[in-house]
Amino acid sequence: MIQRPRGTRDLLPPESRLWQAVEELARTVFASFGADEIRTPAFEPTELFVRSVGETTDIVHKEMYTFEDRKGRSLTLRPEGTAGVARAWIENRLHDRSHPLRLYYIGPMFRYERAQQGRYRQFSQIGLELLGADSPLADAELLLVLHELFTRLGFDDLQVHLNNLGDPEDRPRYQQVVRETLAGRREALCSDCQRRLDENPLRVLDCKVPSCQVIVADVPPVSDVASEASRQHVAAVEAQLERLGVPFVRNRRLVRGLDYYLRTVFEVVSPRLGTNAVLCGGGRYDRLISDLGGPSLPGSGFAIGEDRLVDVLPEPFKERVLGARRLYLVPLGAPAQAEVLALAREWSRAGVTVEVELTGRSLKSALKRADKEGFAAVAILGDDELAGGVVAIRDLVASSQQVMAAAAVPDWWKGRG
Ligand code: AMP
Repeated sequence: MIQRPRGTRDLLPPESRLWQAVEELARTVFASFGADEIRTPAFEPTELFVRSVGETTDIVHKEMYTFEDRKGRSLTLRPEGTAGVARAWIENRLHDRSHPLRLYYIGPMFRYERAQQGRYRQFSQIGLELLGADSPLADAELLLVLHELFTRLGFDDLQVHLNNLGDPEDRPRYQQVVRETLAGRREALCSDCQRRLDENPLRVLDCKVPSCQVIVADVPPVSDVASEASRQHVAAVEAQLERLGVPFVRNRRLVRGLDYYLRTVFEVVSPRLGTNAVLCGGGRYDRLISDLGGPSLPGSGFAIGEDRLVDVLPEPFKERVLGARRLYLVPLGAPAQAEVLALAREWSRAGVTVEVELTGRSLKSALKRADKEGFAAVAILGDDELAGGVVAIRDLVASSQQVMAAAAVPDWWKGRG
């Protein structure tokens, strides 16, 4: 038997309905704030991620699916979505459009990670990028949109963690602080962190090795050396969130695992998720587009991990989606079978979710199946009903039976609520 690659998943019904519902709601909420969808390739030149996500990050250093195509070009399955959006903005000359631009994407990302619950090698992200605005209001809007989406999904226990990474000009000073603090304990760090200390000390802070985390706890937070301008920026974001009633906590140890962030960074954390608690990450990346060779353009954005989100969806949302009503249309005998699809088409056009019995089940066996599968009602079409232009309806929720004109079924169905 051929098995799927490690770290990947098959999304089966009915769970796939939850994914559809989440995506539909995300599209609705994003569009209501003026965002449009962008679809970029699932693979890009490797250099794009090396230059944006950062050569010394875990993602680029050891998690990328990189391969050569037949012409020897180095390509990489995208590990995240922002770099591709930035590349597309430059390549398609979107600077000619009116800004700010709000662009969202939904799709698979690929990282060669240690596979475990909540951590996959192919996973899906729902992301939103806001390009061309450097104001704190832009960051606040992103967090507001996030809060709206999560609220409409029924979450009431999520926490937004927020931090200030400072400006790129603050970085060398901070690297110095990290190096000095850890100078005497270099040998106690994991080999990755010893390398990070030389190449990019900030990355020591997101090491997942427990013994490193203990040592790193002594490093002063990055926000301590942040510029005054960046402090004012993040303070203004916080003031907006307070005004809007969007709850957040200041997490001075939050750094995020990608190099392009500056100033505002944030995560949305679920207390129900344990070690994979982070449902969403984001922040400001004003230098990304110019670092990739484009003009200077500020931006900020977030990406929600859809796999994890679906894992912890609130029950009422799940019940609403999975409990959607379906009508089971059962033809009895050849003449009814000949007509049944035309009738299903009529009802489907009128907005009824109708599933036709195709295998010639007897009435008894069809009713048994209806019970087992949770159909809301069964419509029976036998010789007599066919002759009279009616159907016999068995309402399995109300435990009632009636005969009605076939054409009246859609109205009855909607009226049942
Ligand atoms: P990042 O792009 O690393 O900031 O991740 C943003 C969000 O994507 C995270 O908060 C997770 O919810 C999700 N995510 C990242 N990596 C994985 C993975 N390997 N498996 C599942 N979800 C992931």
